[in-house]
Amino acid sequence: MKSLGHAKRLDAIPSYLFDDLDKARDARLAQGADVVDLGVGDPDLSTPREVCEALAADVTSVCRHGYPSYTGLISFREAVAGYYQERFGVQLDAQTEVLSLIGSKEGLAHLPLALVDPGDVALVPDPEYPVYRNGVLLANGVPYDLPLAAENDFLPVLQDIPPDVLKRARLMYLNYPNNPTAAVAPLGYLASVVDFCRENSIYLCYDNAYSEVYFGEEKPHSVLEIPAARDIAVEVGSLSKSFNMTGWRIGFMVGSRHILAALGKVKMNIDSGVFESVQRAGVIALGLPESVRHEIRAVYRHRRDLMVKALTAAGWKVRPPEATFYIWAPVPPGWSSADFARRMLEEIDVLVTPGSGFGRSGEGYVRFSLTSSNERIEEAAARIQGWSVTGLAAGA
Ligand code: PMP
Repeated sequence: MKSLGHAKRLDAIPSYLFDDLDKARDARLAQGADVVDLGVGDPDLSTPREVCEALAADVTSVCRHGYPSYTGLISFREAVAGYYQERFGVQLDAQTEVLSLIGSKEGLAHLPLALVDPGDVALVPDPEYPVYRNGVLLANGVPYDLPLAAENDFLPVLQDIPPDVLKRARLMYLNYPNNPTAAVAPLGYLASVVDFCRENSIYLCYDNAYSEVYFGEEKPHSVLEIPAARDIAVEVGSLSKSFNMTGWRIGFMVGSRHILAALGKVKMNIDSGVFESVQRAGVIALGLPESVRHEIRAVYRHRRDLMVKALTAAGWKVRPPEATFYIWAPVPPGWSSADFARRMLEEIDVLVTPGSGFGRSGEGYVRFSLTSSNERIEEAAARIQGWSVTGLAAGA
């Protein structure tokens, strides 16, 4: 007798991290609590006005909005190529080396369908943005964790990967500036990853979604700055964080034309591309002066300094992040990430994400997202300062 039910591959996939967090927050809100939500990384800042105006004008100028082209408007792909030239000194052929995405998440999740056969291994960072691992599982691939440890500056130690795993590995995901650890990767490290992937015949997918959210002197790099990456690597970028456009669903993948062609074939059978008015507005976003991104960075830098100061005053040792809008904070000894985050929510109504939700090696940390207004971040900072974290640990 056949039984109805979902496909077995879904059993391997945990409930989406932020679903659980939303439930915990909503339960507190239902009790009338004033929760400061530093959980999900969704910018509170406005999309630049020029971009909104471009969309409005485009939507109303013609009212004939057909299916978009699968690979993306050439004007959008040329704007991405122009941005790569200017920002990274990387020359791209807009026709074959740029693909538009319905947000970078879409491309990251679909890529294993193009590159990974059932049973193939894909190397994923741990902790990680959960879409890599779950995308691999949806393609019936086998994720293998690459631990990111503080003592290694949150960079995977490639020599630790066992030879039998390497033999079966087809794809590696890497993400810097990193969510959730906020780490950045030096260009020399990226070059060693490219060499490693070439030696072991592994495709590389580099997630550069936070390339524009940085505070240090050295700007985050593109992996395509390394010439040897060109035929084995792709990189994703996003307008979500660079221009506060998470809801618009527009991103891109650039790099190896073979990988892009393979992903394009998958996508052609699943989606029909990005709404063209959104792409035209995306062209305007990518053409905005650097001062726009600078202002966005200044807001996050202010919030970072404020929160790091509060955490330090509360006896909490954190590294001030050099990039991203996250703070990756170790929890006091004796606490699990989940228990600590729950306690924080229950006692001071500040919602943070338990590190364990990002993978096994995220245990022992919580992630603060600095994407609430300055006032709310100040409120959270004040509550944390009045909440003795070290005392809490001693009483555990
Ligand atoms: N990569 C990383 C590391 C992220 O944190 C996110 C979103 N939080 C994304 C990609 C996806 O961004 P989007 O789909 O909005 O481009």
